[in-house]
Amino acid sequence: MGEVRARLLEKELGIRTAEDLLWHIPFRYIDRTKVYAINEITEERELSLVQFRARVTGVSYAGEGRKKRFTAFVSDRTGSAELVWFQGVKWIEKRIEVGREYLIFGRPSFYRHELSMVHPEIETMEQALSRRAESGMQGIYSSTEKLSATFGTKGLYQLQSTLWSLVKDSIRDYMPASVREKYGLMSLRDALHDIHFPPSAEGVRQAQYRLKFDELLGVQLGVQSRRTERLQKMGGFLFPKVGELFNEFYHHKLPFPLTGAQKRVIHEIRKDTVTGYQMNRLLQGDVGSGKTMVALMSMLLAVDNGFQACMMAPTEILARQHFATLSRMLKELPVKVAILTGASKAKERRTALEGIASGEVQILVGTHALIEEKVQFDNLGFVVIDEQHRFGVEQRARLWTKNARPPHILVMTATPIPRTLAMTLYGDLDVSVIDELPPGRQPIRTYHYTDAARLKLFGFMREQIKAGRQVYVVYPLIKESEKMDYKNLMEGYEAISRDFPLPEYITEVCHGQIKPQDKEASMDRFKRGEAHILVATSVIEVGVDVPNATVMVIESAERFGLSQLHQLRGRVGRGGGQSYCILMSGEKLSRESRERLRAMCETTDGFRLAELDLKLRGAGDINGTQQSGMAFDLKVANPTLDVQILSRTKEAAEEILQQDPNLTRPENQGLRLLKSRYSGESQIDFSRIS
Ligand code: ADP
Ligand code: MG
Repeated sequence: MGEVRARLLEKELGIRTAEDLLWHIPFRYIDRTKVYAINEITEERELSLVQFRARVTGVSYAGEGRKKRFTAFVSDRTGSAELVWFQGVKWIEKRIEVGREYLIFGRPSFYRHELSMVHPEIETMEQALSRRAESGMQGIYSSTEKLSATFGTKGLYQLQSTLWSLVKDSIRDYMPASVREKYGLMSLRDALHDIHFPPSAEGVRQAQYRLKFDELLGVQLGVQSRRTERLQKMGGFLFPKVGELFNEFYHHKLPFPLTGAQKRVIHEIRKDTVTGYQMNRLLQGDVGSGKTMVALMSMLLAVDNGFQACMMAPTEILARQHFATLSRMLKELPVKVAILTGASKAKERRTALEGIASGEVQILVGTHALIEEKVQFDNLGFVVIDEQHRFGVEQRARLWTKNARPPHILVMTATPIPRTLAMTLYGDLDVSVIDELPPGRQPIRTYHYTDAARLKLFGFMREQIKAGRQVYVVYPLIKESEKMDYKNLMEGYEAISRDFPLPEYITEVCHGQIKPQDKEASMDRFKRGEAHILVATSVIEVGVDVPNATVMVIESAERFGLSQLHQLRGRVGRGGGQSYCILMSGEKLSRESRERLRAMCETTDGFRLAELDLKLRGAGDINGTQQSGMAFDLKVANPTLDVQILSRTKEAAEEILQQDPNLTRPENQGLRLLKSRYSGESQIDFSRIS
C-alpha cells in the first residue's frame, strides 16, 4: 500500500502491522443480497445499513476549499435521494458519472422526510456483479469520518483479501488441541478466515465464538493467577461459628421469611468466611430484591465472631435510612449500632468514633465519612458497600488500609453496569445474584406521557392519593444546567401546590439546596405518611424505602439514562399494592430517548435494560469511556453480552491452571502468551483495591 494510505490507516485506526490489520475485524455483518427500492427505505431504517440501486441524475457543489461539499442526486422508479460527501470530494467526483446506475450502500438519514446518505459506498453495477459474494454476507469494518471516503468498508475488505493471500500459511494456533477439542473451537486460521470472508451466518458465529473464547480465556487466566497469588499472600478473617445473634435473629426476629435467593446468598457469604481467605464479593440484585437483609445478616455473622462490621451508603439520606432499618430490626438484640456521616453533629460523631475505637459499637453505618483518617476501628472484619457505582475505586482503597488485614468485602449493586462487570472480570470479585423478588410484588406498570397529558396525570395522582397512596415527582438535576433545573423543579412544585392545595393535600419538596436538616424533616414526613406528594431531584434515586408510595412520576424523563430511570422506578412497587411509573417528556424526542422510554414501558427487568443500555450507547462507548480505565483491549468479546462464553472460559482457565499453575508446560506456551496479552499485567491491579 502507498505511504499516504498507510499513514492514514495508522493515524485513524491505529493499524500499523499486518497483525493489527488482521485483527481489525468486522463489528457486524449485513446481508448484501437484499437491494431496497428507495421508497422502501423509511425512517424506521435510520441508522441501519442498507443498499439500493439508483441512477445519478445530477450533481452539485457547495462551499469552498475545506468546507467543500459534493452532492449527487439519484433516483429509481420509486423515488429520489441525495448522496453527500464532505471529505474526499476530489476522489469521489471523478468516480460519479451523471446518467449512470450505481449500487449504493450506507446509513440512511432523513431531512424533512427526504432520504439522504452521507459518505455512502458506491459501486457501478459491473463492479457489484463481479464482486465475490458467495454467501451474501458482508462484514462491516469500523472506520472513521476521515477514512470513509477513501477507505470505507469496501476498501478495508480489499485490503484484507490481499493480506490474507500473504499470511494465510503462517498463522499458528496457540490453543492446545485438548482445549480446542473440549470446547469445540475451530482452528485460529479458519476463524480468522471466516470472520473476514464469511461463508454463512453460522460460520461467522463459530468464528466469533473462537475469537471471543480466546480473549476471555486470556483475561480469565490472568485474573485467576492473580487471585491465587492474592489468596496465598493475604489471609482473611475466620468466622467459624454461626452464633447467638445470628440464630436469635433468624429464628425469632425476621419480619418475613427470606426468599430462596436471599438464603442462597447468605450461604455463599458464610462459605467464603470460613475459608481463611479474604472475601471479595459482588452482590447484584434488582431494586427491591432485599439486599439490605443479606447485608444485615452477614454483619451479624461478623459480630458473632467477635468482629466489627460497617456499612457504607452513597448518600446521607440512604445512610440514615439504613441506620433506622438496622436499629429497628436489631433493637431487642445485644448489639450496638451507630451512625457516622458528614452531617453528624458533635455528640453523634463522638459516640461513633469512641464506640468504634473501643469496640463497644459493633456495627457502624455511614457515608464515605467512614473512610476518613479519624475513624479507627478496633477490629473491623466485614464491610458492606451499598450501590457501589457511586463509590470510586480510590475510596475503597482507603478502606482497605483500615486494618492490617483486609476485611471481607461485600459490594451491593442494583444495576449490572458495565463498570461493575469490568470489576468482575478484572477485579477478581466473586459474584452473587439475587434473582428473585419477595413474594406478592406486582410488576410496576410504566407509561410514557407527553406534557400535553398533564391534566390526565394530575387526575391520576388524585385518584391514587384518594386511595391512600403516596406519589413521588422527580426532576433531573444535571451539573451543567443546575440553575435551570432548580427553576424547573420549583416551578413544578408551585404548580403542584396550586393544583393540590392544602389542607387536603400535603406536598413536600426536597433537593440539594435545602439545608440538610430541613431535607431530612421533609423526607421524614413523607416516610411517615404525613405528606402525599414528594417533589424531589434524583437524590432519592438510591434506596429510599416507602412501601406506601405507589406512583413515581419522572419529569423530563428523556434526560435520564436507562439505569437511572430503572433505579428511580424501583422506589415504588415495594409494598403489596399495584404501582405505577409515569415518564413525562416533551413531544420532540431524539431517537435514542424514544427507544429508552419505550424500553422502560416494555420491561422491568434490570438486566435486560442494562444490556439494552449498552446497545443504545453503542460499542464506541464501551470501548472508549467505559473501559478506558481498564487494562484490556477486547476486540471481539463483550463481557456483558457474552456471559456464557465468559463462564466457559472461567471453567477452562481453572482446569488449565490446576494442572499447570505457572503455564510452564511446552504445550501451554501459547496460552501464556494469551494470558499476558489480555491480562494487562502492567496496568493497575484491581485485585489489590477492593
Ligand atoms: P434493595 O435490594 O433494593 O436494597 P431492600 O433491601 O431495600 O431492597 O428491600 C426492599 C423491600 O423489600 C424492603 O421494604 C424490605 O423490607 C422488603 N423485603 C426484603 N426481603 C423481603 C422478603 N424476603 N420478604 C418480604 N419483603 C422483603
Ligand atoms: Mg438498597
